[in-house]
Amino acid sequence: MKVVFLGTSGSIPTAERNLPAIALRMDRELLLFDCAEGTQRQMVRAGVSPMRLKAVFLTHFHGDHFLGLSGLVQTLALMNRTDELEVYGPPGTGELVEKFLGLGYYKLTFKVQAHDMEPGGKLRREGYTIKTCEVEHSVQGLAYAVVEDPRPGKFYPEKAIALGVETGPDFSRLRSGQSIEFASGQVVKPEQVMGLPRPGRKIVYAGDSRPCEQVVELAQDADLLIHDCSFANELLDKAIESGHSTPWEAAEIAKKAKVKQLVLTHISPRYADDSLLLEEARQIFQNVVVARDMMELEVQRED
Ligand SMILES: [Zn+2]
Ligand SMILES: [Zn+2]
Repeated sequence: MKVVFLGTSGSIPTAERNLPAIALRMDRELLLFDCAEGTQRQMVRAGVSPMRLKAVFLTHFHGDHFLGLSGLVQTLALMNRTDELEVYGPPGTGELVEKFLGLGYYKLTFKVQAHDMEPGGKLRREGYTIKTCEVEHSVQGLAYAVVEDPRPGKFYPEKAIALGVETGPDFSRLRSGQSIEFASGQVVKPEQVMGLPRPGRKIVYAGDSRPCEQVVELAQDADLLIHDCSFANELLDKAIESGHSTPWEAAEIAKKAKVKQLVLTHISPRYADDSLLLEEARQIFQNVVVARDMMELEVQRED
């Protein structure tokens, strides 16, 4: 699972930061979370092919999070895309997609399938599940968790050999969860030679939000939490008023949810130097970075 930060500014773009969009490369699929204006150019810069994009997940309908979708769809039509594109978002997504598909003159060459997602909703996909929760912002918004399916436990060949299993096809059978039966009638079960199932990787993107319990729950034990950090601690009033978070608040969420790593994003244009945000967050949670455009993060499988 590789995360590419395509836009990390909040509300207004700057020379260094574009507006929110995050690409996520899964084993078999390319996903996009939020799609601000200019996202398609950021994809070109990052070497992320929009033609390979399978689905777009929108957190909410403030312009800085979705206005790039219209342009992206029209570019894909110019490139003669034929594969369906899925778009998910909070209630109202279907209506919104309908509207922007009707903008301007172009010929749509593929199907755009829009789906409204309810807070608390789940979406099964091949090898992983998308889960959502409602965030606390000035308009309705969703946070998304991408949760990979658990993997079978670790295989211990020495245990299999000790039970009389020979290397070869029988090893593969045990690994894939099947029991082996010898001519003598003796049976070797996978659980005798394998460890406990290993949880899959988990990435959570909270979108624009005040700190909230739902996100703590959604992000529990995540490998990576990407959280709003629009304002430094001294501008808490402004954060409360506009429905955003400060470094202490984002770090507190990461700590409570026991995530492995925190990435701060949606940085207000006032912070040309983001070191203050990082310092403040570190006072509460150590493994934290401030996202920058084009930053890439690989979330590795643990053995
Ligand atoms: Zn925003
Ligand atoms: Zn917003």
